[in-house]
Amino acid sequence: MNSQNQRQALIDTACRMNEQGINQGTAGNLSFRAGENFIITPSGKHYDEMHADDLVEVSISTGEVVAGGRPSTEWRFHRDILASRNDIHVVLHAHPVYSTALACQQREIPAFHYMVAVAGGKRIRCAGYALFGTQLLSGYVLEALGNHRACLMANHGLIALGRNLKSALNLAVEVETLAAQYIRVLQMGEPVLLTDAQMDEVITAFSGYGAD
Ligand code: 13P
Ligand code: ZN
Repeated sequence: MNSQNQRQALIDTACRMNEQGINQGTAGNLSFRAGENFIITPSGKHYDEMHADDLVEVSISTGEVVAGGRPSTEWRFHRDILASRNDIHVVLHAHPVYSTALACQQREIPAFHYMVAVAGGKRIRCAGYALFGTQLLSGYVLEALGNHRACLMANHGLIALGRNLKSALNLAVEVETLAAQYIRVLQMGEPVLLTDAQMDEVITAFSGYGAD
């Protein structure tokens, strides 16, 4: 895929966040690794009105804009994730209803369902609250992610990581589905959680499962 097509694929994926009901309006942001830089959505712009030229190229090492206008206010955690995780090429941030509802109670998603392991761990943690766009928020996000591929963000939303745009979007949709299921279970009472050993078994089984 040439770089123009990659940029269009990023915009298409950003549009799909809203179409699939995991984000709304100009909330959220999306980036992918491009060599020593990353390409990120601009701040405060509607995805369905976005053009390839609106995307912003930022240096992973310095955080400086290499080309384009004003990057997403959240460029710091995009940069910090891409700088610290060689396995990750796409960072997706969205404000989905159910994930955000849990995040507003600063709750994590525990091992209530085996699919929680799809994010790479036994639970999907919730990052601490800090003002959007800050280095403090980025620090909380990195701490909550660890070596996992998703986390909630207190009183804010979620982050899903991927090796490509499709896997990041799929993971975000899956986490939102898990959040909706978990909330439904909580309405019935306390869920029966899977044990650490049962989750270890799922993580091992997932390691050879699927293409992404
Ligand atoms: P940007 O439009 O600056 O990307 O901000 C959206 C957002 O979700 C901030 O957390
Ligand atoms: Zn946000």
